[in-house]
Amino acid sequence: MAENWNIYADWNPWHGCTKISSGCKYCYVYRQDEMYGSEVSSSECRKTGNFNLPIKRKRDKSWKIESGKVVFTCFTSDFLIKDADDWRGECWEMMKTRNDLWFYFFTKRIDRFMECVPDDWGDGYDNVLVGCTVENQQMADFRLPIFKSLPIKHKSIMVAPIIGPVDLSAYLDDTIEEVAVSGESGVEARPCDYSWILDIREQCIKADVPFRFHQTGAHFIKDGRMYRIHRKFQLSQAHKANIDYRIDKFYVPETIKFEWKEDDYHD
Ligand code: SF4
Repeated sequence: MAENWNIYADWNPWHGCTKISSGCKYCYVYRQDEMYGSEVSSSECRKTGNFNLPIKRKRDKSWKIESGKVVFTCFTSDFLIKDADDWRGECWEMMKTRNDLWFYFFTKRIDRFMECVPDDWGDGYDNVLVGCTVENQQMADFRLPIFKSLPIKHKSIMVAPIIGPVDLSAYLDDTIEEVAVSGESGVEARPCDYSWILDIREQCIKADVPFRFHQTGAHFIKDGRMYRIHRKFQLSQAHKANIDYRIDKFYVPETIKFEWKEDDYHD
């Protein structure tokens, strides 16, 4: 199950984002936009042509996104970005309509969460999974106490891109369904030290929280030696390390699946 890519779908209701913390420095959205020669600034958040994807149907009237999929939501922006406040309500409605899907989004703006939820959120929608992204200790200590206090049914922590040692111990308990750790990609990527990964793994094992080493990043330090890892091997090399703990449910694909065409997007 873990590597069955058929259970995943992508949904990017908007595209473009503003940088808010050091983890954003070499944001993949900016890098990909540059690579594809986008004429619109990456910091300009705009609705996409796929905004209504979860409720789109095929000619035979069946859903375009088949029942049972895990839908990675808004990974070419941040679902909680202020620029999208006027659009998000419709997304929550679509998530409610499609209660046969899992919607999974990651955010660096968890402090905005309660401003962004719909009136009937209550203690959370059953089919919405939220990942709080942190990149260093400072952001962990700012975002995770907020995250822990929020009414969300399914919570995970994404340490990405990891740019220093992080102690998550204070935040790990059975309310956290998974911790995933990734190094940074791109030519200018900051290095990821394997000792930081192993350290977080130990913290997770101690708290009995599932742990996943998601990807190495481009510059990977092991035993004091720096390795350059080609993009296409960053995921598989992390898997080869074989250090995941209690991972048996969902697998978080890396952004390598992120492909878009200019004509998918509205002006
Ligand atoms: S929050 Fe995420 S998408 Fe937005 S700039 Fe930062 S890294 Fe990029």
